[in-house]
Amino acid sequence: MTPAWLALGGNVGDSRTILDRAVSLLCDGKEIRLTARSCDYRTPPWGFKYQPPFINLCIAVETALAPRDLLARAQDVELQLGRDRAHEKRWGPRTADIDIIAYGSLTIDELGLTVPHPRLFERAFVLLPLAEIAPDLVIGGQAVREAAASVDTAGIERLPPRGS
Ligand code: ATP
Ligand code: CA
Ligand code: CA
Repeated sequence: MTPAWLALGGNVGDSRTILDRAVSLLCDGKEIRLTARSCDYRTPPWGFKYQPPFINLCIAVETALAPRDLLARAQDVELQLGRDRAHEKRWGPRTADIDIIAYGSLTIDELGLTVPHPRLFERAFVLLPLAEIAPDLVIGGQAVREAAASVDTAGIERLPPRGS
């Protein structure tokens, strides 16, 4: 099993429920085991600005899957949750987006898969939830805790667990 960290986000439909469902669909307990889950964060839209706020979170898993297979499973879950890649715009609205942030200490730079995620360090909506579950993780020579402390976090709101 290899540790991996994933970022989830969505802004179409009941995003907190949809992303909960994404986590349980993805983490079957066999090939992908959930080891930690951050709180949900409400994040102002990023990229394409005129769209509803996103819900973002990060999870840590242990996986028996190779990186490509993990990506395929993540994309499969996106599809199950109604993501329609053919009709969406880049960085526009979507029900569920699942990105691989890091896979062990592996560096991958292939067509269709770059790990660690290349835009990680500019994204407070990834760094804040990631720092919650993996503050000491070092990615590309940088500790997540420090990266999260130095990024602009304006407008990002950590949401209390539901039902509390
Ligand atoms: P961004 O990657 O900037 O967050 P996005 O998540 O909106 O953008 P998508 O349309 O979901 O982009 O994905 C585009 C492609 O990115 C996918 O088809 C996938 O092959 C590729 N990709 C490359 N590296 C990764 C990664 N680490 N995690 C997920 N997808 C990746
Ligand atoms: Ca993404
Ligand atoms: Ca993606």
